[in-house]
Amino acid sequence: MKNITILGATGSIGDSTLSVISLHPDKFNVFALSAHRNWQKMQLLCAKFQPNIVVMSDETAAEKLANTINSDIQVLSGAQALNTIAAHDKTDYVMAAIVGSAGMASSLAAAKAGKRVMLANKESLVLAGNLFMQVVHDNNAELIPVDSEHSAIFQCLQSGKVGLNKIQLTASGGPFLHTPIEKLHTVTPSEACAHPNWSMGNKISVDSATMMNKGLEVIEAHYLFDLPAEKIDVVIHPQSFIHSSVYYKDGAIISQLGVPDMRAVISYAMSYPDRIISGVAPLDLANNSPLEFYTPNLDKFACLRLAFDALKQGGNAMGTLNAANEIAVEYFLNNQIAFLDIASIVERVLEVVQHNNIYSLEDAIINDQTARTATHKIVKQYV
Ligand code: NAD
Ligand code: MG
Repeated sequence: MKNITILGATGSIGDSTLSVISLHPDKFNVFALSAHRNWQKMQLLCAKFQPNIVVMSDETAAEKLANTINSDIQVLSGAQALNTIAAHDKTDYVMAAIVGSAGMASSLAAAKAGKRVMLANKESLVLAGNLFMQVVHDNNAELIPVDSEHSAIFQCLQSGKVGLNKIQLTASGGPFLHTPIEKLHTVTPSEACAHPNWSMGNKISVDSATMMNKGLEVIEAHYLFDLPAEKIDVVIHPQSFIHSSVYYKDGAIISQLGVPDMRAVISYAMSYPDRIISGVAPLDLANNSPLEFYTPNLDKFACLRLAFDALKQGGNAMGTLNAANEIAVEYFLNNQIAFLDIASIVERVLEVVQHNNIYSLEDAIINDQTARTATHKIVKQYV
């Protein structure tokens, strides 16, 4: 029996993780759960899964929850408590599924404690990739990607990297793949969040529409698979059946395919190196043709270009890109800026924040704050 901590249990990845756990009560036990403010949903999860510990990062939400649930469940609050459940002696596996830079410290705490880290929080790698990979290595943690593209590559690379030429991440192209750039000025948050294939949280859905998500994933892949930007390629594949591919020097390509459903990715992270039932039906190839592929247009999807540039620049540029994007997306979701402003704001923030290196979690946090301050100033010129 493996004890699982889910950081970000009330989100989309949290839901899918709990749904896989429900299929295997003999193999997995919910040890601890966390959420930000949604104590009502956490109340339901407590009733169903009876975790030992629950963390609400918001103090008021923690109080409300504690008053309504079984007193056997310990309720903690605050960001530090996330580290406690991530590194807890009784935890075997940690699902790191908090959205944004708020998830970085607890993912790192899980890695420091040598856990199996099932990493959905790509920001941990984007903000402090070198540091994170070093901590994983030094503490013998197991790092298993929970991102469909990276899980696909992880699966394709099970026989090793010998003869590897490049990896190729697939991107759906999002809801605006065929929308002309002139029309993108006026698209709304609900149009941007209507992802054609994947059902996800709002922030990552907007990132898919701008293709910043793919940009963050290129950075994520750089650290996970220790490959330079030149060996990471992106292809648009609107059907999202091919989750990603690896290319070898003899001309062979190995791809991983399946229905786009994160439960398959999550169950693999939980069962690796075995496989277990995930609740996802197999892909019916004959009834899903044709498969299409396109080269991404980096003028229209400027966020993808900016992410490649930030990766090549290295150091704090990736964290700066991420912070500027998180804030710009928030403004867009609140209808305060236009869709195309997101890339423009990120580009300007990258120009003004001074370039330096990241040596510690503190460096990453300070840079994140500096970049946020710079973004708030720049955003004012757009609202
Ligand atoms: P979501 O918005 O649905 O859920 C986010 C979770 O994080 C919630 O439980 C929320 O309570 C918690 N949270 C939010 N802000 C917080 C804060 N400041 N402090 C503590 N907790 C906080 O997001 P999601 O779609 O589940 O994505 C989670 C992570 O997984 C993201 O990093 C995303 O990029 C990554 N990811 C998601 C998918 C997907 O299909 N949803 C796929 C690949 C990777
Ligand atoms: Mg992905």
